[in-house]
Formats: sequence, structure tokens, C-alpha cells
Amino acid sequence: MSNHTYAEGHASLAELKAGQERWLAGQARHAHQDAARRAELATIQKPFAAILSCIDSRATPEIVFDQGLGDLFVIRSAGAIADRVVHASLEFGIHVLQAPLLVVMGHTDCGTTNAAIAHADGADPLPGHLTVFTDAVTPFVVPDTGDPKKRAWDTLTAHVKSIVEDLRGLEPLVKARVDAGQLLVVGAIYELATGQVHWLDESAA
Ligand SMILES: [Zn+2]
Repeated sequence: MSNHTYAEGHASLAELKAGQERWLAGQARHAHQDAARRAELATIQKPFAAILSCIDSRATPEIVFDQGLGDLFVIRSAGAIADRVVHASLEFGIHVLQAPLLVVMGHTDCGTTNAAIAHADGADPLPGHLTVFTDAVTPFVVPDTGDPKKRAWDTLTAHVKSIVEDLRGLEPLVKARVDAGQLLVVGAIYELATGQVHWLDESAA
């Protein structure tokens, strides 16, 4: 960890948390979703955060953080798994557009977590190209101690934390911004049943 304060990243995080609270309280503002905002952004974008999240239709970053056009640079893949195309997309948001915060957001009851746990317990890997997901998540499956909910949570959080660590060290462009204190990278879990975002890093809690 460097001595930099990631001041911009923390300001962005505060913005996301405020939007989350509004949405949870049923007081979403739905700001930045009108023609004036569209016009403002016609030739420029400056999103204040990048978010890598799952493709699940119930875990939509712009909605759960109450943000609008141009606010968030969002990349979505199943289980928030990051391959080369995701890395390049992140570099666009972080190096080119200079978003000061990257959130890696998994969610409860994720199909990739569930498939990986089933696979670890002996089920066949997913068919077709879907094997990419069981391959990526199965190494993080924790032992069965008789509490399926906890097992899924622990597997999911271990997987998200590993993505966070990988991305903090992603050479050359992302790591350079982390090392310079210009990019804060945090993990989060969106809870489908409650709408709550749980922050995984102490620095973000
Ligand atoms: Zn998912």
C-alpha cells in the first residue's frame, strides 16, 4: 500500500454510497437522465467511477447507486470475471477517462458461484463456452460445513477479492494509477434480497 490517500477515489465512493442510501430508502433522484444531461455529454464523458459487475439482470449498477448518464463507466461480465477484453475495457475507463475509483461488484445467488459449488461437489462443468465460469470460480469454492448460504457467501467474497487483487496489480496501466494514488479499487457484494451493497474492504466500509 502506498502513502497516497486516494482522495478522489474516496470522494467517488462517498458519492456511490449516498446514491445507494437514496435508493435503499426509496428516495432515488434519477438525476442525469434527461435531455439536458444528454446535451451536456454530447462530446465529452467524465465518469466518476468504473464498475465491473455481473451481467445478472437484477444487479444493475446505475439503478442500485442511483446514477445517470455519464456518471458510471460500467463493464459487466458473468461473475464479474475479467478476461483480456475486460482488462482492455477497464484500461479505457481508468487510463483514458481517468475514473478514480474501480468497484468490483459481485452479488448474492450468482449463477457462477452456484455452478462452481455444484461442480466442486461433483456436478459436470457448465456446457459450451459456459465452462469459462466454472473454470474461473471453482478454485474459490470453500469446503462444505453444512451452511449452504455461508458457503456461497464465502466463495463469492473470495472470488471477488481475488479479482480486486488481480486488477490492483494489472500491468501496466491500471497498476500505475493504483501506485500513484490515483485509483482506488474496492470489492463489493450486492445483496439481491435487500438491495444492500456490502463493501468488502475495511478502507471502504
Ligand atoms: Zn451473477
